[in-house]
Amino acid sequence: MRNKWASCSTAGRVYFSADLLSQPVSFQDQVIAHELLHLLIPNHGALFKSFMNAYLPQSHATRAKHIACSRPTKA
Ligand SMILES: [Zn+2]
Repeated sequence: MRNKWASCSTAGRVYFSADLLSQPVSFQDQVIAHELLHLLIPNHGALFKSFMNAYLPQSHATRAKHIACSRPTKA
């Protein structure tokens, strides 16, 4: 998982890069919320963005360009 901060599977497993530990807590929060939301919504569509904005409205401006993830895949 070198190029991604995190990923999740359709089986409900969420993985995080160890490199995330060296990032600011506010960014860690964004990545965690992002991946947990993928357990409900597998894409980055309008509903996903709406939920992210509801959970972490303060991070809206920086979220899209910094979080590299993978969409849910089969485990
Ligand atoms: Zn994502």
